[in-house]
Amino acid sequence: MPEVFVGLGANLGEPAVQLHAAVRSLAALPQTQVKKVSSFYRSTAIGPAGQPDYCNAVAQLETTLKPEVLLDALLAIEDAAGRVRGERWGARVLDLDLLTHGDTVCSTARLTLPHPALAERDFVLLPLAEIAPEAHIPGLGTASELLARLPTPRLVHWT
Ligand code: ATP
Ligand code: CA
Ligand code: CA
Repeated sequence: MPEVFVGLGANLGEPAVQLHAAVRSLAALPQTQVKKVSSFYRSTAIGPAGQPDYCNAVAQLETTLKPEVLLDALLAIEDAAGRVRGERWGARVLDLDLLTHGDTVCSTARLTLPHPALAERDFVLLPLAEIAPEAHIPGLGTASELLARLPTPRLVHWT
């Protein structure tokens, strides 16, 4: 079964509560098992200034859902959590990014894999390397290799 990693984020409402609920929603998807969930981390928001900090985590799934089907499921979970789409990188109650899906490499209007910003984001790579340091990011290397190329992360646990 393809190994899949999903990045979770939230910076409105009760971020950690929403991330826990999102993990339950992932576990309830058909043909899908949640294998691991990272610690929750606090990160400074990217995008428009003045936003609350994010709570970020990464979940490892095993699923036979195809990438586009899983993307639709992630967007549906965001919608059900009450996500309102406003300005780019604006604050949100839940963000679920498909980071990798097995060895799939693709770039369509709706889906790019691996996620295009993955290698630049400590708030993705730190939780990813926590649960799967040897995870292979197609075309890029392992999670721990990518993390080592970034400045030392200053993320703290969410608490
Ligand atoms: P970023 O992608 O830089 O983290 P974002 O998460 O704020 O930004 P969204 O507004 O949540 O971006 O998503 C915009 C669109 O990105 C989605 O509707 C989806 O079609 C597209 N998209 C492309 N590749 C991916 C991916 N790997 N995971 C999730 N969404 C993706
Ligand atoms: Ca995102
Ligand atoms: Ca997203």
